[in-house]
Amino acid sequence: MTVAARRAIVTLPLTLAGRLQYEPPLPILRSQLMDRAPQGQGIKWHAIYPEPFWRADGLTGQGADMDGAPNGSIDCTPREGKPGVIMAFAFGPDARTMAALSAEQRRQVCLDGLVKRFGPKAAQPTYFAEIDWAAEEWSRGDMFAHFAPGVLTGFGRTLRVPCGRIHWAGTETAPQWCGSIEGAVRSGERAADEVLGAG
Ligand SMILES: Cc1cc2nc3c(=O)[nH]c(=O)nc-3n(C[C@H](O)[C@H](O)[C@H](O)COP(=O)(O)OP(=O)(O)OC[C@H]3O[C@@H](n4cnc5c(N)ncnc54)[C@H](O)[C@@H]3O)c2cc1C
Repeated sequence: MTVAARRAIVTLPLTLAGRLQYEPPLPILRSQLMDRAPQGQGIKWHAIYPEPFWRADGLTGQGADMDGAPNGSIDCTPREGKPGVIMAFAFGPDARTMAALSAEQRRQVCLDGLVKRFGPKAAQPTYFAEIDWAAEEWSRGDMFAHFAPGVLTGFGRTLRVPCGRIHWAGTETAPQWCGSIEGAVRSGERAADEVLGAG
């Protein structure tokens, strides 16, 4: 497909934006910024139960464990109160360890961790789902770009500067709420203003 436009806004995470072909090539500092901003690594699970049984035990469903997956859990039960949904994560090194296991093994590790937190009922979800965000072709990781020491100080000045008719948006470009949906929305508004102002 060929699209003709006066300007373009690229809203991809930096590592994906760096995989596009630009003609003419981008300024070197901008290109090097995109080479140095990988996405983090994370696996996300949803375990679904008939009801949020942990609440009856006075538990919030929220948990953190830095000694192994699942590293975090959150009660994601819908407002109606049913079904009970626990969302759980593995991050960073634990996500890499988990990615090397089979899906069945990952499920077991996750459910064992939830049983440790919420008791034996957690072992029997009616539905269980997972996403390894690093394995998603169009995401290449979660949740947003990781800037190692020296990257923002050395290359960050190019983060929002348009390159000719190419403008940059996406949560990584947000001065506030960088890494969140809020930052993504704000970056879109900022880039739209830029384009409208440029004519
Ligand atoms: C597991 C997880 C949990 C999160 N939890 C929260 C949370 O609780 N609260 C919160 O605020 N934020 C959360 N985030 C972060 C939030 O999702 C991101 O900050 C937000 O989605 C970033 O939006 P974006 O538009 O910058 O980029 P993205 O949402 O990554 O959008 C980029 C889009 O570009 C598409 N794309 C990629 N390559 C191409 C291409 N070559 N051509 C065309 N399209 C392409 C992708 O498919 C994608 O749709 C979470 C993220 C993850 C992964």
